This record gives sequence, structure tokens and C-alpha cells, in this order.
Amino acid sequence: MSQEDTEAWAREIYQKLGISGERLEIEVRKYIEREKRYIMRMRQINNNQGFRLKFYLVERQEFPEAFKSQVIDSEVKKIVSKLARHFKIGNPRVRFYGNRQSGSSGWDIRLSHNPNLGLICHELAHQKHRGHNKKLMSLIGRMVKYCTKKQWNIMKPQVSKMRSEM
Ligand SMILES: [Zn+2]
Repeated sequence: MSQEDTEAWAREIYQKLGISGERLEIEVRKYIEREKRYIMRMRQINNNQGFRLKFYLVERQEFPEAFKSQVIDSEVKKIVSKLARHFKIGNPRVRFYGNRQSGSSGWDIRLSHNPNLGLICHELAHQKHRGHNKKLMSLIGRMVKYCTKKQWNIMKPQVSKMRSEM
């Protein structure tokens, strides 16, 4: 809808509501401003979503092994606490999606069952950096490298099929 259309539409609605004269012009202008702000917000959201999606694609390209691996649930907590210790990220609690547990805290890491190492590193890295940016990517990279050095990436999956990653 162009601005002219929007304006005509708003004018019609306000006229139907019995608003006229100077008041009508004011209301129509306000309506257009609100509409513009709304469109800007929507664009912002789309941009952020687009960027996040791009980040997911890039990390999978950068660290394919890590994102194709699979860690059994019983090993996840061990790996998280070892990584957290090495990278000085407190002692975050791990929760799996689908397991109902009461209480929540900013220090919790939520993971799917049998996650891949890339995902573990991604979520853990978020404890330091919120945004999907270069800082996060480089921290993920350092974590993946550390996992590789420790050979945690060779852990073979014990479940038969890879699940969707996110
Ligand atoms: Zn993320």
C-alpha cells in the first residue's frame, strides 16, 4: 500500500467515525506516522531474522564436522562443564527441550536431545555474547577447536538417526 493509498484509507475511516476538518488532518497524519514506524519495526525484525539465519548457515559451513557430530545426552553435561571451565563461563546448567523443569535462569543452556557439538558451542558461547556477530562466531570457533583437540568430536552417535538440528 503506497502512502497515498494509506492516507486515503485513513481519511475514509476517520470520516466514517465522524471526524472532520483540522482534527481529521491531524488524525490522518498521526495514522501515517504510526504506520511508518510499524513498517520500520517490521523491516528491523526481518533484518535481524535474516542475519540470524545467515549466521546459522555460516557456522555450519565453517565448522561442518562439529555440526554433523552428535553427542549423547549423558555426555552433554560433561562437555558443557569442561568447556565452561576452560572458557571461564561459570557453571551453566543444561536443560533439554521437552524435559519440564521448574524455574528458569539466565544461566541455563537449552539444548535439543543428542545435540551436535556445534550447537553446544553456540549455546554456550551465548553466555558471553548475546548477538549473532563476529565475536560469537570467533568464540564458537575457539570452542570447536578445543573440542577437536580433546577429540570430543569423534564421539559416535548412539541413536540411529540424526535429528533436525534446531
Ligand atoms: Zn544463537
